Amino acid sequence: TQVPTLLLNSGTEMPQLGFGVYQVPDDEATATVSAALEAGYRSVDTAALYGNEGGTGKALRESGIPRGELFVTTKLWNTDQGHDTALRAFDDSLERLGLDYVDLYLVHWPAPGRDRYVQTWRALAEIHDSGRARAVGVSNFETDHLQRLLDETGVAPAVNQIELHPRLQQPELRRFDAEHRIATEAWSPLGRGNGVLDDPAVRRAAAKHGKTPAQVVLRWHIQLGNVVIPKSVTPSRIKENIDVFDFELDGEDLREIQRLETGTRVGPDPRTMD
Ligand code: NAD
Repeated sequence: TQVPTLLLNSGTEMPQLGFGVYQVPDDEATATVSAALEAGYRSVDTAALYGNEGGTGKALRESGIPRGELFVTTKLWNTDQGHDTALRAFDDSLERLGLDYVDLYLVHWPAPGRDRYVQTWRALAEIHDSGRARAVGVSNFETDHLQRLLDETGVAPAVNQIELHPRLQQPELRRFDAEHRIATEAWSPLGRGNGVLDDPAVRRAAAKHGKTPAQVVLRWHIQLGNVVIPKSVTPSRIKENIDVFDFELDGEDLREIQRLETGTRVGPDPRTMD
């Protein structure tokens, strides 16, 4: 499978579809990530919080795939926010991964109650300048958090990774990102168990195109221009989730999915998550 890439504002290319490893235990991460690489994924999304950078890095290093063909993302946890603590946390993540650079390093949440995301962002800009992160970005930032980074540092994130699926389509954030050349990356792209995959409109589109509901939802993201990182530990679903580049949703399919917005989150609210 050939996964298309998006050109980030940092000048690097990011595969539009990758593999998420949230809630995969460290001792299962090596086998799970190896299965994903076997299926053709080249982009992997982990985080210090997930506790599986070690097992993930092992799979990447032992895959035999040239480092330049892989795209590795990890994230800074909230308790490490602050300039010096962020620099240290990044070193620790690289060491656990067993890599000498990552492709993308993200601030996991704005954690506005801590009010440290601007100084944290300055540290990430330094990490980017050092070459040890090819691109730096944020996760779960709302438009006012992004605007504050732009106003106070002048440095735009390459990526904003946010909760985004047919129940929470985030039109305003997606528009803000696009206006500032920030790529929008969807976490919980399948809506993790909030019924999207059972929705009649999604099922109808799946039957029409001879694909599965999960493939329809992932294809919807791809056609909107989002980066997606579906997660599964089931080998057949790992393969299914990357097999979305041989069909196209039409205008009717897209309009029906657009009607599925309910504003319902599956994860925490970025304004109160600390
Ligand atoms: P997801 O939408 O990818 O859903 C995953 C779940 O959907 C699986 O556990 C499985 O139950 C089901 N599923 C997967 N493939 C399927 C298929 N083909 N058919 C039917 N069911 C299927 O949700 P997620 O795991 O929460 O998100 C994906 C990734 O996003 C995570 O692994 C992580 O890397 C990232 N993430 C980031 C944040 C953040 O704050 N930045 C938060 C949550 C998740």
